[in-house]
Amino acid sequence: TVEDAPATRFARRARAVIPGGVNSGQRSVPGLTDLVITRADGARFWDADGREFVDYHAAFGPPLLGHNDPEVAAAVAEAGRHADLCGVGVTPGEVELAETLAELVPSVEKVLLTSTGSEATFHALRVARAATGRRLVVKFQGCYHGWHDSVSLNVISAADRVGGKDPISTGILPEVLDATLVLPFNDVTAVRRTFAEHGADIAAVIVEPVPHNVGCLLPEQDFLQALRDETTRHGAVLVFDEVITGFRHALGGWQSISGITPDLTTMGKAIANGYPVGAIGGRADLMDLFSTRPGAPAFFAGTYNGHPAVVAAALATLAKLRREPVHEHVFALGDRIRAGLAEVFAELGVPSVVTGYGSVFVSYFMTGGVPRGYDDLLRNDVSMFVGYRRRLIGHGVFELPLNLKRSHVSYAHTEADADRLVEATRAAVKETLASGEVAELADASTMGGAEN
Ligand code: PMP
Repeated sequence: TVEDAPATRFARRARAVIPGGVNSGQRSVPGLTDLVITRADGARFWDADGREFVDYHAAFGPPLLGHNDPEVAAAVAEAGRHADLCGVGVTPGEVELAETLAELVPSVEKVLLTSTGSEATFHALRVARAATGRRLVVKFQGCYHGWHDSVSLNVISAADRVGGKDPISTGILPEVLDATLVLPFNDVTAVRRTFAEHGADIAAVIVEPVPHNVGCLLPEQDFLQALRDETTRHGAVLVFDEVITGFRHALGGWQSISGITPDLTTMGKAIANGYPVGAIGGRADLMDLFSTRPGAPAFFAGTYNGHPAVVAAALATLAKLRREPVHEHVFALGDRIRAGLAEVFAELGVPSVVTGYGSVFVSYFMTGGVPRGYDDLLRNDVSMFVGYRRRLIGHGVFELPLNLKRSHVSYAHTEADADRLVEATRAAVKETLASGEVAELADASTMGGAEN
């Protein structure tokens, strides 16, 4: 019976001892209970009931090479034979990884490792305040930078939409968020006006160069240029949060694509194909403010920073990204999927915008062309967005059924996988059109505006 299914049993045990039954926000999805993962390999994962899914969720982005890449796994195992964590001095792997990042990422002269992307963005804002002696931080609608207080604003929120503040969580001091200004993405006028008004108090501008936390908003070049110009003119620190875009879109991140070099860059996700590695790098004079040398003002620490196993994972990942035609493969598959999906939606008469970049794709259900900013995404038909993704799961294809989530292809996906996704989408959209669950789905999917 269903009662006896292993997934149901594990999920019940999980809910008894783990709040909500999962270990991170947005892993528990309305309408998708009892998903207990037991295996992941290449482009697929399997659950405790033996169901197989072609995975386009990709853990919010890290496994660019595919799950459980054999070379990365071997490097981790090999590292474990030599040393684990000693917590004093430095290891050869950390030196090699720092040199590699400095070589690859244009803004990086010096770099520090963290375990997560949130730590990297936290330290970026702290060191910007230490460097400038200023209070304010500017962020943009639709951008997510982690769970810490300064950036913990709901990105899917009416308040955010009108420039107000809607904390992602209770327990955040209002005075912390008072120091965060939220501006519309791709809005040069708002940036110039804000610097004209507050320029002397702005410590940092932090931006996802491509806001993938609401699917995909592509940056206009004059917008990124305005961020560079205004921060330089007013002595503020420009931070590119490349936790998603870094390594996935190009080895040098979006800064290598746009030609606009920030002062600091935060990295994570694809850097180590799924192992917990984050990094903050940038101008040497800023990085040297971190307390990794005696007497420096900006405190920086982390017991697990630079753990040999995860450093080995990062080195093996970056080596493979450099050696093999990973980007060519995932970009071609991304194009194939976007073209196939656009054709399906057109055939079915469903208004849509299929967008993305390279390996990242997302289908919004709206008219009016490619979205430029968060406000445009309010036209997205949430019922269809969530509804067809829920039904995709029944066809063995996994895209996270939550509003505005992006999907990812990896080096392990094949053309056959891509074509199967397109056909599964055709079936799932037809089923959604024929169903009567529209309102209920819309309600469930807008619960919680946190992004990941
Ligand atoms: N920045 C961006 C752009 C992200 O997408 C994320 C996570 N999705 C973070 C920072 C935070 O990274 P982590 O979840 O590793 O703390």
